[in-house]
Amino acid sequence: MLPKIITVENHNHLLLLKQKSLPISLPLSSDTYAIIDAMMEAIKAKGKAAGLAAPQIGINKRIIICSFTGETQDVEIMINPTYINHSNELEEGWEGCFSIPLTFARVSRFKTIDVSYFTAHGDIISKQLNGFAARVYQHEHDHLEGNLMTEQTSELKTFTTEEEFNNFLQIVRKDRMDSLQNSFTSTAKNI
Ligand SMILES: [Zn+2]
Repeated sequence: MLPKIITVENHNHLLLLKQKSLPISLPLSSDTYAIIDAMMEAIKAKGKAAGLAAPQIGINKRIIICSFTGETQDVEIMINPTYINHSNELEEGWEGCFSIPLTFARVSRFKTIDVSYFTAHGDIISKQLNGFAARVYQHEHDHLEGNLMTEQTSELKTFTTEEEFNNFLQIVRKDRMDSLQNSFTSTAKNI
């Protein structure tokens, strides 16, 4: 059965989403692999998705899945993810969340972060993330701390229909593509 993504509309689910998640022990157990499989199933069913955290399927464990392209075939599994901000530079941007239906929140995030996490093979990865990738990682990491985007927003947009929500999503996606394109162009110019 497809794992259900829980939302803030149900009071018990909201309480679960507000909890801090527990670390995963290594080496990875069959229970952990079962959680990863369930998360993969849930995110793939969404078609397009930038990320998902284990608490969103009702499990308070420190596992996140991120896709820095927004395409579900590009997902990466991250276990016990941590980060430190590379500089104090912040960037504002619109975010959506499967657990907060029909809502967009404008959230300030660190522009560049240094991240560390374990892969599904138990290998440790350390790297730097920028822009949209850094935003997705911070959003998903926040889920593990019990923090939701609506609690740290400077502006909130709520829609009454799926259609209105999707129209705004198209605008957000276009802006993201433009900024990715611009960062490409400016990088190319520097060479
Ligand atoms: Zn979310």
